[in-house]
Amino acid sequence: TPAPLLGPAEIRELAELLGIRPTKTLGQNFVIDPNTIRRIVAAADLEPAAETVLEVGPGLGSLTLGLLDVARHVVAVEIDPPLARQLPKTVARFRPERVEGIDVVESDALAVTDLPQTPDALVANLPYNVAVPVLLHLMGSFPSIRHGLVMVQDEVADRLAAGPGSKVYGVPSVKASWIAEVSKAGVIGTQVFWPAPRISSGLVRLVRRSEPVAQIGAGTAQGLTGNRADAADREAVFTVVDAAFAQRRKTLRAALSGWAGSGAAAEEILIAAGIQPTERGEKLDVHQFAAIAAAGVNHNV
Ligand code: SAM
Repeated sequence: TPAPLLGPAEIRELAELLGIRPTKTLGQNFVIDPNTIRRIVAAADLEPAAETVLEVGPGLGSLTLGLLDVARHVVAVEIDPPLARQLPKTVARFRPERVEGIDVVESDALAVTDLPQTPDALVANLPYNVAVPVLLHLMGSFPSIRHGLVMVQDEVADRLAAGPGSKVYGVPSVKASWIAEVSKAGVIGTQVFWPAPRISSGLVRLVRRSEPVAQIGAGTAQGLTGNRADAADREAVFTVVDAAFAQRRKTLRAALSGWAGSGAAAEEILIAAGIQPTERGEKLDVHQFAAIAAAGVNHNV
């Protein structure tokens, strides 16, 4: 028989025990459905007993318990002190054999820069209001994370997984794509949560890219180190992406003129990167953005 997971009765009991009411500002919607937990854990595709998983926002522990059945270790980062302090006790009660398998870090996931163990994977039901920044921050700060499975609002899932030309393609799509290959791995209804959110959730799978930029760009990426984990490269590419989408309707020549210093400089850089100055950002893939950033470095932007 599989180990027990938290259902509606256990979640209600834990909430009562702590005297808490889920807060909207912290995006607290707790999963009360064991089948959903099994689905997320299966989709996370962890190598059994081999991986250290970083979980953001463990809440009352619904997903944490499911992860402890497969992970070697779980590092859980929770911002809300009563929830963070309860988690080890919940593990001791429902998975007494795994109390050594968890570290709880009471912190804002946006601020963590070191962890008690090196994470191999990120698996989380992310707080919706900060989902994209948390995802980018953690994937950016911890290059040891090779893959991830996160639950976010369904429309955010679509945006993260979108490619050039899609209506929902934008800044999150390109930035996530700089770090990982991103795909949608399912939709989760509202009734599996307490309290039930207004809109459905989506599962997003991330597999970190390992190939260097120089090999996948237009051969013009010499201005970057070529290392995707390099923070300076990431900043250079993200700056171009932010500028290109800040004025979505404009041509790249116009949208990037502030970044390049002038329209003429933007045109020169775009041509050096092999991109039509009259093109729009929403048509470019991440490799083309990398080529622009690299050409920018070569032009001393
Ligand atoms: N994992 C639990 C589940 O599936 O039932 C709870 C998920 S709930 C959607 C989001 C959780 O993230 C809450 O526990 C909330 O307190 C926590 N949280 C919100 N903002 C956070 C932040 N900036 N850093 C860390 N945790 C945060």
